[in-house]
Amino acid sequence: AGVDVASPKRTKDIIARYGFTFKKSLGQNFLIDQNILRNIVSAAELDETKGALEIGPGIGALTQKLAEAAGRVAAVEIDNRLIPILTDVLADTPNVHVVHGDVLKLDLAKLLREQFAGLSGVSVVANLPYYVTTPILMKLLEEKLPLEHIVVMIQKEVAQRMAAKPGGKEYGSLSVAVQYYCVPELVCIVPHTVFIPQPNVDSAVIKLSLRDKPAVEVEDEAHFFQTVQACFAQRRKTIANNLTAYVGKVNREKLGPLLEGIGIDPSRRGETLSLEEFAALSRALLAADL
Ligand code: SAM
Repeated sequence: AGVDVASPKRTKDIIARYGFTFKKSLGQNFLIDQNILRNIVSAAELDETKGALEIGPGIGALTQKLAEAAGRVAAVEIDNRLIPILTDVLADTPNVHVVHGDVLKLDLAKLLREQFAGLSGVSVVANLPYYVTTPILMKLLEEKLPLEHIVVMIQKEVAQRMAAKPGGKEYGSLSVAVQYYCVPELVCIVPHTVFIPQPNVDSAVIKLSLRDKPAVEVEDEAHFFQTVQACFAQRRKTIANNLTAYVGKVNREKLGPLLEGIGIDPSRRGETLSLEEFAALSRALLAADL
């Protein structure tokens, strides 16, 4: 491999040589710190039998390291101005395939089949554009892609919400959605100073290890997630109040006995319910045709 991209000097050199200008609207904050890269790559548990899907390679700082650690890398970049830079920077790394496209619009199942056939597992490893973190992660999870881990740099508050346990103010529908599919682990908190340009928010690396099967058994996933959304609709309200808005006033008198039947106090708030309790609630609502 060539010279490390992730240093302040080399990053500035590349940017100057190609006359590249950062687009804030694309969440372009490039990593310039080798230590952070090592933390990200080691969390992903890669070896030459594994594939890595990178979202948003930028000028290739992380891509280089993934190419060393994994058998094969596919990197999806939306900004066409970065494609020639990536081609040059990654000229000595034949196991990297750069795809020009919007990750939200790509057929990722097809990409994984085409790029990683014969490997023993694939993980997503990325320093994500923060303006689309949640849509990207929800796409990866809802499409049930055959992934081992998702190791991503994201906004610190979002990472904390994903990993939050019931009972705190950080726990919400995002925590439930992520924990339904994955076991989350906060890898490290990252200072602003390791990026060019520096973002206005704090960052963190989170590792999501995909479960073999969802954390709880539900009859109807869409209904389960609707129930969760409904319970968090107005965070300060009790689940009885939030659910009344959801099932309609005509059905409100059914709610008390229904909640009692599954051992959930109607005066609790959504933020105190575990995944098991949300699953029980969804099953009970379905059984009552609600
Ligand atoms: N991986 C590089 C690094 O760590 O230095 C760059 C990370 S930067 C935070 C995010 C990258 O994602 C940018 O290169 C940006 O152009 C790209 N990007 C933004 N939106 C995207 C999308 N919808 N699909 C693919 N790439 C995207």
